[in-house]
Amino acid sequence: MNFELWRQDDNGNRFLVGSYPDRPAAEGRLAQLARSLHKQTYWIAETRPDAPATKEIIANMTDCDFYCGQILTGRLEVPVHCQNDLLFAFRHTNPIWEHHVVLLPKKHVASLVDLGEEDNELLLELMRTAKRIASEIMAQCGGARVYTNLGEYQSSKHLHWHIGGGRQLRPY
Ligand SMILES: [Zn+2]
Repeated sequence: MNFELWRQDDNGNRFLVGSYPDRPAAEGRLAQLARSLHKQTYWIAETRPDAPATKEIIANMTDCDFYCGQILTGRLEVPVHCQNDLLFAFRHTNPIWEHHVVLLPKKHVASLVDLGEEDNELLLELMRTAKRIASEIMAQCGGARVYTNLGEYQSSKHLHWHIGGGRQLRPY
């Protein structure tokens, strides 16, 4: 078990301050920072023992890859919808719709257009899962959206699908 200290700036960007072998060490550093002039939000995260190989994921991530950086490493805990060896799906913590699931491959793939021929099995598994989640939402709401963003429209550079339905809660 590892303990990490994170901070969030006023723009909502999150940064890893440091990694510590035990909770008192992380809390000691947190207390130091709290006395300093940094008016920022800090928190301590336990990295889950069952998190996928953190080092591998970090080696492959880009600067703006929220999914490899936070979700797949287990740094940010999210409500899991379903997962298997190839993919991970969770309920969006700031949903656009009443029902809003985010589906992504566990392997780092930058976007839909970056999938290679060798990813065909993965793509099929992703679409199979998207179909099942969309069917569940359809049954409850009578409609669903399934989409993935690219280029300037894509904020996190890790392939992910939004699957949503029901009342719209915020703009997107
Ligand atoms: Zn990634």
